[in-house]
Amino acid sequence: MKSIQFLESHASTPIKNRPSIFGCPLDRTSTYRSGSDKAPNAIRQASDSIETYSPYRDRDLMDLKFSDLGDLDLVHKDLEQALKIIESMCINILTQGAKPVALGGEHTVTLPIIRALNQYLDDFLVIHIDAHSDLRQEYDGQELNHSTVIRRVAEIMGPSRLIQLGIRSGTKPEFEWMRSNKTLYEWGKGSERYLLKRLSNKKVYLTLDLDVMDPACLPGTGNPETGGWFFHDLDRLFNIMTSQNIIGADVVELNPVLDSSGASSIMAATIVRELLLII
Ligand code: MN
Ligand code: MN
Repeated sequence: MKSIQFLESHASTPIKNRPSIFGCPLDRTSTYRSGSDKAPNAIRQASDSIETYSPYRDRDLMDLKFSDLGDLDLVHKDLEQALKIIESMCINILTQGAKPVALGGEHTVTLPIIRALNQYLDDFLVIHIDAHSDLRQEYDGQELNHSTVIRRVAEIMGPSRLIQLGIRSGTKPEFEWMRSNKTLYEWGKGSERYLLKRLSNKKVYLTLDLDVMDPACLPGTGNPETGGWFFHDLDRLFNIMTSQNIIGADVVELNPVLDSSGASSIMAATIVRELLLII
């Protein structure tokens, strides 16, 4: 079988200082509608129909080297084993001086990436872009799943290194947690200068749950939430991130099974292209 690559990636091994894509087909703790394990290849397939040139960034992926290492084999692995495999891949990428770019899968994949980054780097910030706060202490009796993942990340990093954007769904205690820890940022017109001040040129990791987008433009996700972002909202963020030191990113929670028009996968592929161009 011909292996699928994201657009025209330059290598299947990590390149120093350049992004390394790897797929994490994990869909173990979905609580509503499963299918996100099919996302990495759906994003790669959709990337075939978009240009390598981005008019938003005036940059072309053909001129910027990046790797696509393929998908991790997470079949028949329990959750902890799967997360260990993701962490090992991330460490492998970091030891070669490259930058991890994970394609989910469910949002839980972010935790092992943060565990790995935390062993190599200190004082980096995490920007969490999502419709949901993902801050539950536990869910369905589990301490580790897609609705608790950012709480687990905050336990590793400390809430002062967490910035949350786009959140419009969560429990009252989760919103109280965000308010008392000052992690939730507004993202209206003119919010850029507040965010830039907060970033103060520190290293940044981006975790992007695609359900931050409005269901009108990205219906193909397991837990869509009304009142979301449109592409220009994300583009404003990418614009200011162009000047920042991004150490890695993940794009999670696309569900191709629910994407009957294929438009959600194309938007996901476009978002990954833009990310590759600013890393
Ligand atoms: Mn979400
Ligand atoms: Mn999430």
